[in-house]
Amino acid sequence: MALLEAINPLLSAGWQKGGHEWRLENDNGWRLKDYEARGGYQSLKKILETKMSSDEVIAEVKKSVLRGRGGAGFPTGLKWSFMPKAAPEKYIVCNTDEGEPGTFKDRDIQRFDPHAIIEGMIIAAYAVGAGRGYNYIHGEIYELYQRFEDALDEARAAGFLGQNILGAGFNFELFAHQGWGAYICGEESALLESIEGKKGQPRFKPPFPANVGLYGKPTTINNTESFASIPFIFRIGGEGFLNLGKPNNGGTKLYSVSGHVNRPGNYEVPMGTPFAKLLEMAGGMRGGRKLKAVIPGGSSAPVLPADIMMDCTMDYDSIAKAGSMLGSGAVIVMDETTCVVKALERLSYFYYEESCGQCTPCREGTGWLYKIIHRIEHGQGRPEDLDLLLTLGGNIAGRTICALGDAAVLPIQGFLRHFRSEFEYHIENKKCLVPPDVQRAGSTFFTRNMGQA
Ligand code: SF4
Repeated sequence: MALLEAINPLLSAGWQKGGHEWRLENDNGWRLKDYEARGGYQSLKKILETKMSSDEVIAEVKKSVLRGRGGAGFPTGLKWSFMPKAAPEKYIVCNTDEGEPGTFKDRDIQRFDPHAIIEGMIIAAYAVGAGRGYNYIHGEIYELYQRFEDALDEARAAGFLGQNILGAGFNFELFAHQGWGAYICGEESALLESIEGKKGQPRFKPPFPANVGLYGKPTTINNTESFASIPFIFRIGGEGFLNLGKPNNGGTKLYSVSGHVNRPGNYEVPMGTPFAKLLEMAGGMRGGRKLKAVIPGGSSAPVLPADIMMDCTMDYDSIAKAGSMLGSGAVIVMDETTCVVKALERLSYFYYEESCGQCTPCREGTGWLYKIIHRIEHGQGRPEDLDLLLTLGGNIAGRTICALGDAAVLPIQGFLRHFRSEFEYHIENKKCLVPPDVQRAGSTFFTRNMGQA
C-alpha cells in the first residue's frame, strides 16, 4: 500500500512466514535507486519545482489529517505550524528511539525504506524553515543506524541534502544520531537532552520544543512513521491520504501485532480497519485458542477484553471510545492461557526499571506499584492491595515531569477495571485462576519477550 509498498512483498516472503528470523543480508529494495524506481523523491522535486510556499506545504499536511504515529496522535500539520517563522536557526528531529514494549514498526521502516524518512524530513525542513536535522536512532538497532548513514551518503551524493538542494536555493543538512537504548530517551525533551550530549532526562514543559528545543532553538520532533508518510501524502494529495482512512484519522497505519497470534509482524492497513480483520491478517489466534484480551497501542495503553476489542476499529477515535489508546499501534494479543496478574507484573517491572528517577512520585511510586503486584502474583497479596494500587496510581499520574508516570499507572487501571475478579482470586487463593500447566502450554510471551521490543 502506501508506506511500506517496498516492505510488504518482503514481509510476505520472509517475516510473516518465518516469524522473527528476517536477516539483514536478505534485505533489498532500500537503496536510492530502488526508492527512486518506486517514485521516491518525486514529492520533494514537485514541491521545489512548483515553488510551493511553506504555508502551502503545511496546509497540505493538515488536509491529510496525518496524526503523529509515535503515540500521542497529535496532528502533524498543526505541529509544524507552531514553529516561529522568523527564527534564524531551527531544527527538525526524527524520533526513532522506538522502545515501547510491543512496538517494532519504526525499525522496519528504517530497515526497508530509509529514504522515505529522509525525503519526509527534507520536506518538513522546507516547510518549517529548518537548516539542520537529526534522526535519533535507538541504540539496540545499531545495524540500522549504519544503514541510515549509508542512505544519507546516497542522498547527499544525489543532491537531495546539503547546499542549494536541486538548485532551489534551499539548504538542509541531515545527520544520524545513535542513542543508547534508554526507554526514556523516546520522550521528546529527553531525546533533545541526549542529542546535546547530556543525561537523557525529560525537561519541564513549557516551554515546548517548538519554541525552545534543540540547543535552545525552535525544533519540530516527529515520529519515524510520521516522516515516512509525508512523501506519499504529496504523491496522492492530502485529501487522497485522508480518504484512505476515516474522518479525523487519515491514511494508513502500521500495526505491530505480537503475542498469541500465528503470524506476528508489521501490518499496514487503512485507519478504521476492524480489529477482527487485522487479527485475521496476523493468522488468527495461535493454536485456535480463545482471545482473552488485547493491549491495543503499546504497553502503556489500558488493556481491553476480547468482547470490547472485537467491536473496535483500528483508529484513534474508536479505541479511545472503548477506553484505551491507539498509541504507537502496538497490538499485544493475549489468549485464554494468559495470567493477567503475571502480565501486569511484567509490565510494571518495565516502568519501574525505566523511570529516570528525576521526580519522586515516579521514582518511588513505580517501585511500590511493582512490589505490590509482585506479591499478589507470588501468593502474598493482601485484600486491601487492589485499592492501594489505585490510590497510589492516583498520586503518581499527572504529578510527574513527563508521561512515564501516567504510562506506569494506566495499565494497572485497565487490568483492574476489566479483570479485577482474577486479581481477587489470586489474593484469596494464593494461586492463579489459569492453572500453571495451561499457562505453560500457552506462552511465556510476557516473561520472555516483553522488554525486547
Ligand atoms: Fe523521570 Fe519518571 Fe519523572 Fe519522567 S516521570 S521525568 S521518567 S522520574
